[in-house]
Amino acid sequence: MVAIDGPSGAGKSTVARQLARHLGFSFLDTGAMYRAVTWRFLEAGCAPSECAADPDLGRGSDGYRLMQEVLAAMQLELRDNRLFVNGRDITSHLRTREVESQVSAVSALPFVRAAMRDLQRDVARHGPVVAEGRDMGSVVFPSARWKVYLDAAPSERARRRSQDFAGQGRTVSESDVLEEILVRDRLDSTRRDAPLRQAVDALYVDSTGLTTEAVVARLLAYVRREFGSTAEATR
Ligand code: C5P
Repeated sequence: MVAIDGPSGAGKSTVARQLARHLGFSFLDTGAMYRAVTWRFLEAGCAPSECAADPDLGRGSDGYRLMQEVLAAMQLELRDNRLFVNGRDITSHLRTREVESQVSAVSALPFVRAAMRDLQRDVARHGPVVAEGRDMGSVVFPSARWKVYLDAAPSERARRRSQDFAGQGRTVSESDVLEEILVRDRLDSTRRDAPLRQAVDALYVDSTGLTTEAVVARLLAYVRREFGSTAEATR
């Protein structure tokens, strides 16, 4: 298990996907799972941000109960790096701004986190994995053999995310993206359940100014160094 955590736009998905390919491990994008739940809540007419405004996250309210029901009836499947909700491929809906604006509120809900944690551990039982998210090394896989905290300067993270949006044919200014990223970072790192934080035994990597290839090379060297020359990962 290689556990990679870090804030939005630090390049975790790209780096983790490539690292997994080099190592012959599977790749687990846990942000996509929280995004899928968010998409489903929005489709079902839930308003997660209303719960976020309450210090008790809306526990006991109708909205909270509705979200619990929707999640209980939701079947989330990961197949060939695509995400299916109740049999429908929703991969192309995951990175929209609508989902992005609500995902931190959804991922703060303890019942959502507990369900995702179980699914993530289940995936890891089937073989070696490179998993990326916010709480991989700190909470979900605390005994992961390799842990990385991937960071980058906020302005660089905003630039990368605004390029992502441009790739989807949407023009969003870097300053707007920066503002959204900072809000998400604050919500993700201040929530009660599994906040974003660097695990004490994680390798800290700042990717500011580095190419994806350079970051992947650095992580491969980290894994190979500790794995020894005879192990599979060195091939
Ligand atoms: O990594 P990505 O930007 O796709 O994550 C989307 C959101 O999902 C994060 O902002 C965070 O709120 C949530 N998340 C989380 N725990 C994880 C992965 C993602 O809370 N392990």
